Amino acid sequence: MSDPPGVRPVDATAYETVIGLEVHVELATRTKLFCGCPNRYGAPPNSAVCPVCLGLPGTLPVPNRRAIELLVLAARALGCQIPPTSKFDRKNYFYPDMPKNFQTSQYDCPLAGQGTLEFELGSQPHRVRIHRIHLEEDAGKSVHLAEDRQDVAARLGEADYTLLDYNRAGVPLLEIVSEPDLRAPEEAAAYLEALRDLLRWLEVSDCKMEEGSLRCDANVSLRPVGTRELGTKVEIKNMNSFRSVSSALAFEVERQRARLERGEPVRQETRTWDEERGLTVSMRGKEHAHDYRYFPEPDLAILSLERGWLDQVDAWIPELPATRARRFREESGLSRAQAAWLVSSRELADFFEAAGGTLEVATWMANEIPRLIRESGIGLSQGRLLPQALAEVLVLVEEGTLSNKGGRELLEHLFHQGGQPGELVERLGLTQISGEEALQEEVLAVLREHPQAAEEYRSGKDKALNVLVGQLMKRTRGRANPQVARRLLAQAVARDKGG
Ligand SMILES: [Zn+2]
Repeated sequence: MSDPPGVRPVDATAYETVIGLEVHVELATRTKLFCGCPNRYGAPPNSAVCPVCLGLPGTLPVPNRRAIELLVLAARALGCQIPPTSKFDRKNYFYPDMPKNFQTSQYDCPLAGQGTLEFELGSQPHRVRIHRIHLEEDAGKSVHLAEDRQDVAARLGEADYTLLDYNRAGVPLLEIVSEPDLRAPEEAAAYLEALRDLLRWLEVSDCKMEEGSLRCDANVSLRPVGTRELGTKVEIKNMNSFRSVSSALAFEVERQRARLERGEPVRQETRTWDEERGLTVSMRGKEHAHDYRYFPEPDLAILSLERGWLDQVDAWIPELPATRARRFREESGLSRAQAAWLVSSRELADFFEAAGGTLEVATWMANEIPRLIRESGIGLSQGRLLPQALAEVLVLVEEGTLSNKGGRELLEHLFHQGGQPGELVERLGLTQISGEEALQEEVLAVLREHPQAAEEYRSGKDKALNVLVGQLMKRTRGRANPQVARRLLAQAVARDKGG
């Protein structure tokens, strides 16, 4: 059957997806970029502001040395070049959350560029080039009072109202721009996760997408497979979670593909991701650099970073996740997945090493820690389990004082309450019962209470022994050594038969 006229056959391989990401990260400095106001999320509205970050006339900015240090730290860890000089520029636009009517940013001389980020996706190595990293100030926040805050709106005598909170105005931001090296939405999400993990590892930012300290815009275009020229790109904004990055990009790729297949051009524009409806919506035509009337910031000197200072920052770079994962695999025989999980945060990796760094430690951590964190809703560092205590628990299990189950119970107790494992084993009555004498009485009681299972085992049904062992474990609240219990039960049934 032939295709209807005017509709070309859909060929999924005819186009190649090209994605580049622009990632904004709020730096974990104590103060803002150009003034001494605290850089703190969640403070009461307009409580962290001063004449400088409110853009009042006559004020002058002073750059925050720590913000530049954190940028250099991130840039060097990404293998970037740091040019000998750099400068700030004014990016001019009017928006209510930007009290100065310009944003102090960097235009043609960014602080860093030409790096790479390597990551794995489904054990497949990927390498994405970093085009540039620059420093800029964040804008304030517009709080649109629609239906959810009708109480405030009523008090203000308006049905629909916008309030402004300038606490975020002047918070230092890194903008990390990748080259268009990503070829699929899943790749973009994996790149973003790897970048987040690295920046957290370096303690450059807490990178919380839900609090806006990590934000991501994407440039997406399609081109015929085999061509080098880039297609018309669309910028996607307002993707507020890792999942929405994947879904928004997947939607946009299909939208563009459908247009191209219908023979319609893709319009260069900025679109926003509508999470609720699951689609991208046109916001505005694409702005160009000349729309912003960039010019050098006259109130700030040209930045010239001294060699000695750069070397000092280099010396602060800790062993990076990929290197550490490789070392864990080689030294402790961990699987790729175990090592990858441990280096997903510096906290986990440090805990693992402090607890002895063995395969057994990794296995216990992977089995128990995620559950404890999930059930308690607190992180490893807020819990009271110390790495040394985990090491002691493993020794107690190894020497037979604790069963595996007892070990898990003790870990849970330590996570919530802390304490000395050796002492707690006694106090909580977790000691494993391995002594034959101590178990003998329980064995006889189990046989008395479950004569049918005993009879079945006696008549050759081997599985019936499991029932008896299970009952004995229940009677001893899991403290019996299962191997010893099994042997004693089998012997006791055999004795019965003989007698
Ligand atoms: Zn301020």
